[in-house]
Formats: sequence, structure tokens, C-alpha cells
Amino acid sequence: MSANSETAARPTDTGFAIIGAGMGGILMAIKLKEAGFHDFVILEKGDRVGGTWRENTYPGLHCDFPSHFYSYSFFQNPNWTHRFSPGPEIRDYLESAAHAFGVFDAIRFNSKVTDGRWDDDAWTVTLEGGETLRAGVLIAATGYLHVPNFPEIEGLANFAGKQFHTAQWDHSVALADKRIGIIGTGSTSTQLVAELFGKVKHLSVFQRTPQWVVQQDNPAFSEEEKAAFAADPALLAKMYNDAKAEMIALADGAILGGNADARAYLVSNVEANLARVQDPDLRRKLTPDYAPGCKRIVISPRFYEAIQHPDASLVTEPITRVEPQGIRTEDGALHALDVLVLATGYDTQAYFRPLDLHGEGGTPIAEVWRERPVAFRTMTVPKMPNFFIVEGPFSPIGNVCAFLTAELQVGHIIKLIRVITGRNVALSPREDATAALLETYREAARTTIWATGGCVSWYQDVDGVPTLYPFANQVFEAEMTADPDLAEYVVWPRRAGTMAGAMA
Ligand code: NAP
Repeated sequence: MSANSETAARPTDTGFAIIGAGMGGILMAIKLKEAGFHDFVILEKGDRVGGTWRENTYPGLHCDFPSHFYSYSFFQNPNWTHRFSPGPEIRDYLESAAHAFGVFDAIRFNSKVTDGRWDDDAWTVTLEGGETLRAGVLIAATGYLHVPNFPEIEGLANFAGKQFHTAQWDHSVALADKRIGIIGTGSTSTQLVAELFGKVKHLSVFQRTPQWVVQQDNPAFSEEEKAAFAADPALLAKMYNDAKAEMIALADGAILGGNADARAYLVSNVEANLARVQDPDLRRKLTPDYAPGCKRIVISPRFYEAIQHPDASLVTEPITRVEPQGIRTEDGALHALDVLVLATGYDTQAYFRPLDLHGEGGTPIAEVWRERPVAFRTMTVPKMPNFFIVEGPFSPIGNVCAFLTAELQVGHIIKLIRVITGRNVALSPREDATAALLETYREAARTTIWATGGCVSWYQDVDGVPTLYPFANQVFEAEMTADPDLAEYVVWPRRAGTMAGAMA
């Protein structure tokens, strides 16, 4: 169809709209630019970069992957202060990456995307406030843990003190002289507890399910070490590669079952760690009844030390309700509190939602994801042409570093973008190919420890099937680095001109 015909497509404002200026969005922009595409905008709801590392500011926030690996492979930081970085350092690192690679100025802050509509061969993106923008390609780099999960506990709204979710920390609340209640014992809670014990009047930790906790110290890097990293890029690269090899051998090997030695090491580590709890009754309460690795492993040097502190108590009686003065448990006890912290995790099946999408023929995402969130090869969605997700459904997010996963996915997305721009086409994955691959993933996922280990976790969907990539990291790497097979996609020509601004 001619661009001069009456039905010629409306021009786009930008080639690529990336949603989110966190780890994935900054990476996407860097790699687009590297591939020769300069016509992109990053739409960021917040007023700073950093994604989850901007949103989360709770005391004790840090990353439990080694710093030199929890980074872009191509942008190593010699200045990490610790083996496991504090959260603010990671946020700063992401901002420095955006500057170093010249994508910072492409970020539009305070620009929350509420809706995307595929029409006329492009996406019309609506921002909160009503402004619209047209983009040839839409990329959701919104992260997968960004919608807080608020527990449905009777009386929560009646609590007389301050209460907030860990992802919405209220720094105006002084904690030192307070009785703090924390609901939840996941990775977030354990970091918080390890930071707060001994610094507040009392900590009450409300545990529904015990966690296996890996003992892992977090030493600081000395000035000499940091100087050596700065002086020798090869040393930094070695730090990255060693940590990656260790993750694949230990975490991936132990969890996905390929490495019996790694599995034995993991089990002995968590059991030995638990044995450090002196009081047998407390130890019993902290002992999980499921296999290590079924839930996401908690990594903490000090959680057990914290929970044994005289000013901390572990509450395992189920919560009956929240009352103005505190939490009432099933044994009738009232746990009096001044501050209530909800360390209750996230809606892990939200992905980019509540942002709404309407794809081919106006098909809503709610219809495509009627049964469950699906993505072809973790990145594209049927009926959603020229739309990509970084860290989409079935991404390897359990035992693999999110940076590595995103780099592999973005590499594959760039290959598909070259098809889109090179041939001036639109593409989305075929529904049958997506359904078949999904079944392969789900069948394999049912045999992983995430399903067979005897736990309930946020990895699982409503049917109890884990929504994580069920194969080893090497398989994912091979899948991502392979050239796309266009027979797996619906590909159709776009009207001339729509992607003009996006061409390299
Ligand atoms: P989470 O692992 O989902 O833990 C939520 C906790 O809240 C669980 O202990 C859960 O109990 C409890 N809970 C939820 N609803 C409850 C209710 N109605 N009543 C009582 N207890 C309730 O959330 P998270 O700790 O925020 O961690 C989420 C993920 O974020 C982690 O798995 C990890 O991937 C990531 N994260 C990473 C880091 C890092 O350092 N890299 C740090 C923090 C978080 P049940 O176990 O019984 O469901």
C-alpha cells in the first residue's frame, strides 16, 4: 500500500517507546543505540532512574547476588563497596550507566504509561494526564516485582500506628523507640530484620512459612582491592566471569538438579546455618518442611542472629486480625505495635499491568492473558505486534541474575527489531507456537523443585505450576542467542513510512 494513498499510516513520534528506566529499560536503550537506532524514548513514571532500586529504600536493602555480577557485563564498576551491594549503590550505578552510554537524555521522567493501543501499524501510548505518543515499537521494561501485595487481613485499615509496605517505606517514621511488627519472612523481610535488630525497641516478626536461609558473609572491599579493580579491567572481567560460573555451577546446578554436589552443598549450608539457632523451640519454628530451593532461597549473614536477639520475637501463631493497638493471633495474644511493616511481597503475575494493552484488532491483553500471562520465548505476546517484554513470563528469574537474563533477552529483541525495521514489517508470535512452547515450559516446570519441593511460593501460578524458565541457564542462553525463526511469527508488511524515524 502506498504511503501516498488515503489510508497512509500516520507518522510516529518515535521509533521505539521503552517503558521504565530501570535495569531493563536502560539496557534496552543502550543496545538500541549500539545497534544504530537512535529514535527512542524511555518513559519513566518516577523522577529518577533505578526501577526497583529506586522504589525500594527499606533499611538493610542490598542485593544478594555478588556486585560484580549483578551489573551489566559491558559496564563493570570497580567501586562497589561490598561483595553484595547496598541498594543505593545499585541505583547510582544504573544512573551512571545511563549517562556513560548517552541514553539519560532520552528519559522522560514523571511519564506514567497507562495504556497502549496498536492501530494504524503503530502503538499509540497514553500517559497519565492524557498525553499520547505514537511509537513503531513498544517495549515494556517494567520489571516483574513492582505491584505491592497487600495482604487481605481483617482490620488492617484499623491499625492506629503507622503502616506501610516495604516497597513504599515511610522515612518520616522514626523507628528507634518503637515496637515494630513485620509481616512476612521473605528476602525483603530478612534483610530488614537483620538491619533493625538491636536498633528498635522491639521487633515482632510474623512468620507464616519458614524459609531456608543460606549463610553468606558480606565483606567490604578494601581501598587496595578497589584500586586494583580500577587499574585492571581484566581483573574486573574475571570477577564477573567467576561469579557467573559460580552461579551456574551452584545456584542453577543445585536448583535445577543438574549438579548433585552443588545440591549437597546447598542443603548442608542451610542446615548448618539453621543449627546455629540455639533455642530448640525457636529452631523448630524456623525449620521449613519443604526442600531447600522450592521457595526462593533467602541469603543472609545475620537473620538467625537477629531473630535470636532478646528484643526480637518470632510469631508463628497465625494472624487473626489487625486491631488498632497491634496484631491479634489465634492463641488470643495481642502483639502491641507502634509500626506495622508489610513485607508481603508482590503481585508476581502482574508484569507490566495495570498498564493496559490493546493489540491487533483491538484485542485486549486481558483476553490474551485470560488464563495466565504468556510470552513467546519470554519476550513477545500473541496479538501484540511489535511489542516486547524484558523479563516477561517464564523468564529465568529464580536462580539466575536478572542482569544476565535481560542482556540475553535484549540481544534477541534487537535481532527481531532488525527484522521489523529491515523489512518494514510488524510481527507477533503465532498463537499455536506460543501455546506449544508454553506447554513445553509448563511440563518441564512441573518436574522442577519449585513444583515438587512441597512448598507454596510466588513462583507458582494459580494452578501451582512455576512460571519460571524450567531449564538450565545454558539452554536459555542458546535459545536467546539463536536467530529468530520467522516461521514462529505472524509477519505482515506495514504501510510505508511508519518506521521511517526508527531506521538505523
Ligand atoms: P516474598 O518472598 O513473596 O515474601 C512475602 C512474605 O510475606 C512471605 O513470608 C509470605 O508468607 C508473607 N505473606 C504474604 N501474605 C501474607 C499474609 N496474608 N499473611 C501472612 N504472611 C503473608 O516477598 P519479598 O520478600 O518482598 O521478596 C520477593 C522477591 O523479591 C524475592 O523472592 C526476590 O526475588 C526479590 N528480592 C530480591 C532481593 C535481593 O537481594 N536480590 C531482596 C529482596 C527481594 P508465605 O511464605 O507463607 O507466602
